Amino acid sequence: MVTIRADEISDIIRERIEQYNREVNIVNTGTVLQVGDGIARIHGLDEVMAGELVEFEEGTIGIALNLESNNVGVVLMGDGLLIQERSFVKATGRIAQIPVSEAYLGRVVNALAKPIDGRGEISAFEFRLIESAAPGIISRRSIYEPLQIGLIAIDSMIPIGRGQRELIIGDRQTGKTAVATDTILNQQGQNVICVYVAIEQKTSSVAQVVTTLQERGAMEYTIVVAETADSPATLQYLAPYTGAALAEYFMYRERHTLIIYDDLSKQAQAYCQMSLLLRRPPGREAYPGDVFYLHSCLLERAAKLSSSLGEGRMTALPIVETQSGDVSAYIPTNVISITDGQIFLSTDLFNFGIRPAINVGISVSRVGSAAQIKAMKQVAGKLKLELAQFTELEAFAQFASDLDKATQNQLTRGQRLRELLKQSQSAPLTVAEQIMTIYTGANGYLDSLEVGQVRKFLVELRIYLKTNKPQFQEIISSAKKFTEEAEALLKEAIQEQMDRFILQEQA
Ligand code: ATP
Ligand code: MG
Repeated sequence: MVTIRADEISDIIRERIEQYNREVNIVNTGTVLQVGDGIARIHGLDEVMAGELVEFEEGTIGIALNLESNNVGVVLMGDGLLIQERSFVKATGRIAQIPVSEAYLGRVVNALAKPIDGRGEISAFEFRLIESAAPGIISRRSIYEPLQIGLIAIDSMIPIGRGQRELIIGDRQTGKTAVATDTILNQQGQNVICVYVAIEQKTSSVAQVVTTLQERGAMEYTIVVAETADSPATLQYLAPYTGAALAEYFMYRERHTLIIYDDLSKQAQAYCQMSLLLRRPPGREAYPGDVFYLHSCLLERAAKLSSSLGEGRMTALPIVETQSGDVSAYIPTNVISITDGQIFLSTDLFNFGIRPAINVGISVSRVGSAAQIKAMKQVAGKLKLELAQFTELEAFAQFASDLDKATQNQLTRGQRLRELLKQSQSAPLTVAEQIMTIYTGANGYLDSLEVGQVRKFLVELRIYLKTNKPQFQEIISSAKKFTEEAEALLKEAIQEQMDRFILQEQA
């Protein structure tokens, strides 16, 4: 007869339970089935997360993007030339992230946030996810402060607020990058941190931008994220996210930031290339179906945070290139609908010598005059309408032989207004300078001058006003209003400068 003792049974059960709890450390691994064109297909990696970083045996890092039933599609962050078939791949348990710190200011980095300016390592102890969720509705507040671009045409008629997303759109070689770099230059002393993301550009173009910023002392508050034309599509695709993560780091530390994506059409192309290689089905214009999602996720990250989150701001200026001015193509329409307005640059205007080549008629900013100081509203209120009427009239006047006096006057005024909006590259103007320029033109003080003399006169008037009537600048920057006193000072200056100018021209 077998006797069963109760304590024996309980011992066995206890032992089993203890064993049950023993930790089994399984490393999530897989083997390479196929590799090429920056994509690898992996067998195994059963518990990998979407977007998780994986490490190949020879050191290359990849991101798991396609999780299929029998394999995992991984995009490589590097050329991956040494990866062999059947070699091991290890999941890292980390979603793609980059180091972030104040030390990034003034540096040029790649899409993995590694320095590429030859100035050594960047020290950082914090990390941020490359792709993080945009702030929600409660975390935001409405936009009311201006972000001065420094170009009269934009600040007066298409004002941009801090926390806004404004698209810069135009054909190739129309001055898109110039608008962006001028904006960075104009943030000097404004306490705004700028991030410039260059995607698929020539190395020489990026170098030129960096040199301009350095020469003007703008690199101190700027970070450049660059993936030039020779880097893999994966990195081109990642670069904007890296830029956004860096800008966000500062935004959540209550700072004001400006991010420029130059340009998103290139990023969409890189994404398209990656998706086709991953065998995702192509949609309209061969782009994958989720390209709208790609850009909206990125641009939604720009925000003006609420007071409880410290009121940090991130203003985004995405750039999109069009083909022969076609704004109804897939990527342009997508990005137009995501952003809060667009600045349209046209080849015709550019070739006609109107630079910056901003087509004021079809450019808008949906934030409107909420993002302007009062003084600017006071002088620039009617400018857009007057210019629009002039453009229309000019087209008709070409056919008319003799015009009545009123029409002639309107044409004279219009030509001078158009002239005063012209600005050379890398020469942003302060608000006070812009206000003074618009006032002079809009009140007819330029009508007596030849069109060719307008710019010269205005340049001299700015210098004259600055040296002889410095109070004008003070009033505008302290009161932010165009007071009667300011107006009187300005009128005097215009009169005095006009007398000088006429004498000088006669001589
Ligand atoms: P791409 O399509 O090649 O990126 P883009 O649209 O960014 O071109 P930019 O590179 O900014 O254009 O400018 C094109 C050319 O026009 C450059 O040579 C630049 O120096 C010149 N340019 C831009 N803005 C102005 C300006 N306001 N006045 C004079 N020249 C300008
Ligand atoms: Mg450009």
